[in-house]
Amino acid sequence: MATQSKTQLLTNVFTLLKRRYKSKADRNASRLSVLKSVVYGICHEDTTREQANQALSRFNDEFFDWNEIRVSSLDEIQENLAGLPDPELKAQRIRRFLRQLFSRTYGFTLDALTKKPLKDALKVLRTYDAFSSDYVTATVIQQALGGHAIPIDQASRRALKRLGISESELPALRAVLERAIPKNRGAEFLDLIEDLANDTCAEDQPDCPHCELRKICPFALASKHETHSTATSGRSGPARTTKDAIKTPTRKGADARAPKPAKKRPPTKPAKEMPRSAKSPRGKHRDAK
Ligand code: SF4
Repeated sequence: MATQSKTQLLTNVFTLLKRRYKSKADRNASRLSVLKSVVYGICHEDTTREQANQALSRFNDEFFDWNEIRVSSLDEIQENLAGLPDPELKAQRIRRFLRQLFSRTYGFTLDALTKKPLKDALKVLRTYDAFSSDYVTATVIQQALGGHAIPIDQASRRALKRLGISESELPALRAVLERAIPKNRGAEFLDLIEDLANDTCAEDQPDCPHCELRKICPFALASKHETHSTATSGRSGPARTTKDAIKTPTRKGADARAPKPAKKRPPTKPAKEMPRSAKSPRGKHRDAK
């Protein structure tokens, strides 16, 4: 699909999603600190923003500061990630990031990076293991560094793929989205795609008949076509014999009427007209006689 058509498709998707869901993204929201945006990104990946926000609130309530989380056991950290997918892995990633940060800076701030050009800030951040996740990287760019990025996790990627927007690499997919969606609408678009992916476009059973995007979604259109074809072949399949044709209701309709004109054919036009042209085998045969 050409870039232009992907842009148009994404614009249409955005418009339709706004009819269905209400984004809670606040365009004037203040930025998160770099550290908090890393932890938020780890918590948010593959789950909803509500669950990620709840996890952050629990960290706030249960721990004195980031250092306490750094020295806590994985079980203690994991308790505050209840309800999130892969809580053990998330707890490991969060603690590893805090330990790396502390061992390099003897503190818990990276906010000096917000004053650097984005490229330079990312060069530093990518040396941390947490930034091996494109989702975390994009979250930090969007939430803390003031850049344009739309984090895409597995659920959002699945929904976009069904909509006909896919790339083999995540950064390439993000680049397509970030070209099509303006920076000041990025957070809103992310909210809406996340709602779609978690609400209607579920992994096992997307609820296409009730989805606002069903008329432009290739997956829904193909499913509908397939269902229609199956239903059609299911009706005509058994009616192959004359006996069946008479018995089958559909054959009593238009198809069943077809044999009747065939009986009337011999005495009508073709019999008289063919000898005039003398071009058909039948005509030649008659002339020869
Ligand atoms: S129409 Fe179906 S497959 Fe397409 S986005 Fe909606 S729920 Fe997902």
